[in-house]
Amino acid sequence: MPVPVVILPARFFSSSSCAPGSAVSSSAAEHEEPPKSELIFLGTGTSEGVPRVSCLTDPSKTCPVCTKAAEPGNRNRRRNTSILLRHVTPSRTSNILIDAGKYALLLALPVASPLVLDALREIDAVIITHSHADAIGGLDCLRDWTNNVQPSIPIYVAPRDYEVMKMTHHYLVDTSTVIPGAAVSTLQFNIMKEEPFTVQDLEVIPLPVWHGQGYRSLGFRFGDICYISDVSDIPDETYKLLEDCQLLILDALRPDRSSSTHFGLPRALEEVRKIKPKRTLFTGMMHLMDHEKVNDDLARLMETEGLDVQLSYDGLSIPVRL
Ligand SMILES: [Zn+2]
Ligand SMILES: [Zn+2]
Repeated sequence: MPVPVVILPARFFSSSSCAPGSAVSSSAAEHEEPPKSELIFLGTGTSEGVPRVSCLTDPSKTCPVCTKAAEPGNRNRRRNTSILLRHVTPSRTSNILIDAGKYALLLALPVASPLVLDALREIDAVIITHSHADAIGGLDCLRDWTNNVQPSIPIYVAPRDYEVMKMTHHYLVDTSTVIPGAAVSTLQFNIMKEEPFTVQDLEVIPLPVWHGQGYRSLGFRFGDICYISDVSDIPDETYKLLEDCQLLILDALRPDRSSSTHFGLPRALEEVRKIKPKRTLFTGMMHLMDHEKVNDDLARLMETEGLDVQLSYDGLSIPVRL
């Protein structure tokens, strides 16, 4: 069965520590339990992905990033933004996916590491940031799981995005319209409000942000990790939810400026200076962001300002405490 019995509180690992008075010669940090959960970047790019097909088919072949991205294993190769949380408790490991974009899943699999393949064997929940195609376009592909691996998948979605799904994926919301014998994804829709909720023993705090004028998207906080993949502005009331963030994952579309719907790198860095996370990884990069070049530039900010900021890349896996 895909839905396990709830055994332990979500913050089990982060609340654990060494016994008082033990090994006084070493720092407390050395005695904390090592992180056991894991955060895996399944996709870190824009909706059309990197490389862009139009750059590869351009006879002049003038796009250096897409040319590099076409090489297997190159870190400029980017699929739709998505992360996978492997939430480990003593009783089980839960695989929680944030967004199911057009090809975060399908294109990830042929080149995925054994770690990612193992992590994607069963999907325990999918949490949706918003209803653009690069966040929900892969809902249809989940039928491979519900046909062949598990009976159903819980989807957590805001009311406004559920209304969109009723149109874009009407046959997944109302399965009575499916032709008998046809196989579609079997999804359980859970409507989430903009307040904390629990998924698979893990507390999830929605982080409401603007993703273009008048259009809401959600980031999410898991323990000390804050994930905001699609943002053009952060409302005042959301900043207090970002306090004491250890790892911030933040939208940074392009190196020079913001767009109407996404932070560019200069604005994203402004926000990092304001939010003050311990470490930041950027996501949602388009083909103007050269992984090595931008990361070299960002590394200098560690020397000059003490800012720990880097670009993420598809397949990057980070041990985390949830
Ligand atoms: Zn390009
Ligand atoms: Zn979007």
